[in-house]
Amino acid sequence: MPILSVENLSKSYGRIQALKNVSFSVPEGSVYGILGPNGSGKTTMLGTIMDILKPTSGGYKLFDEDPSEIHRRKIGTLLETPNFYHYLSGEKNLEIAAEIKQHGKDDIPKVLEMVDLTKRRDSKFSTYSLGMKQRLAIASCLLGNPRVLVFDEPTNGLDPVGIAEIRSLMKNLYSEGKTIIMASHLLDEVEKVCTHVAILRKGELIASGNVNEILSNEDMVEVGAKDESRLMELLRDMPKISRVAKDGGMVKIFFPVGTADLESVNNYCFSKGIILNHLLLKKKSLEARFFELTNN
Ligand code: ADP
Ligand code: MG
Repeated sequence: MPILSVENLSKSYGRIQALKNVSFSVPEGSVYGILGPNGSGKTTMLGTIMDILKPTSGGYKLFDEDPSEIHRRKIGTLLETPNFYHYLSGEKNLEIAAEIKQHGKDDIPKVLEMVDLTKRRDSKFSTYSLGMKQRLAIASCLLGNPRVLVFDEPTNGLDPVGIAEIRSLMKNLYSEGKTIIMASHLLDEVEKVCTHVAILRKGELIASGNVNEILSNEDMVEVGAKDESRLMELLRDMPKISRVAKDGGMVKIFFPVGTADLESVNNYCFSKGIILNHLLLKKKSLEARFFELTNN
C-alpha cells in the first residue's frame, strides 16, 4: 500500500504554475526525496499534501484513502522552523508542543533520546547550536509516534557536523520503519539518505523511482545471446566498461556515464564470435541531466 500517491497534481499561484500535472507514489518504509533546484515546487508539493495549500487540479491519497485529518495525525511534519521559546528548556518546549498537538507527554523522554538531546534537555533553547535546534524540531515531529514524517530541507543552514547528525538521525528513523518524505535541493543528500526520489524541475516531474536506478551515474546496455555464460565471460574482458551483471534474466553491461555505445558492444561481441539476439540502451544517466537542468 502506498503511503502517499500524488495523482496529476497541479497548483498555480495566479499566473505562476508551481506544479504541473505531477504524479508519483511513496511506498511504505521508504525515504522519499523530492529533489529539485530552488523554485521547482518542492515546498508547494509538501504544503499541498499537508493541506496548507489547495491543489488547482488533480489530487492525492494518503494511506490509499481520500485524505482527512485522521490520516494527517499519523504524519509528523517539519515544514517551517517551529517557534520555540528561547528562555525555556528543550524539554519544556516539547511539553508545550505536546499540549498544542494534543499528544500526551509520555513520549518526551523517548523522542529526546532519539534525537540525542537527553543530556541537554534542561538547557535553555537559546543555548542550543543550530543543529540541536533542528533536532529539537524533529523531536517535536516525533511526538505521538507518527508512522510518516515530512521534512522540508531539513539540513538547510546547518554546519557539516549538524548536517551529518540530521542525516544519521534520518537513517535511524528509516531503520525503525518510518516512512520519510523530504524535500531537498541537494543531489548528494538524496543519494546519501533516500531510497526513492522524485525529481522536479519548474513544477514538472522529470523522473521518479528507486534512487539507485534514477541517480545512477552509469549507463547501461542490456544484451542477450544464445550462449549466455560465454557472453558474460567475453564481456568481462571488454575494455572501458565498469562492470557486467546478470539481473532479472538479462545480461547488463555498465559503462561510465556518457560512454555507452551500442555499435562498439555489437562489434566487440561479433569479433569474438558471438551473435547478439538482444541489444538495448536501457537508460542514460539522469544525474548528468539533473546537473544540466539545475545549472540553468
Ligand atoms: P521550492 O520549494 O522547490 O524552492 P516553491 O514550491 O517554494 O519551490 O515555489 C515554486 C514556485 O512557486 C516558485 O516559482 C515560487 O516563486 C512560486 N511560489 C511559491 N509560493 C508562492 C506564493 N505564495 N505566491 C506566489 N508564488 C509562489
Ligand atoms: Mg522550498
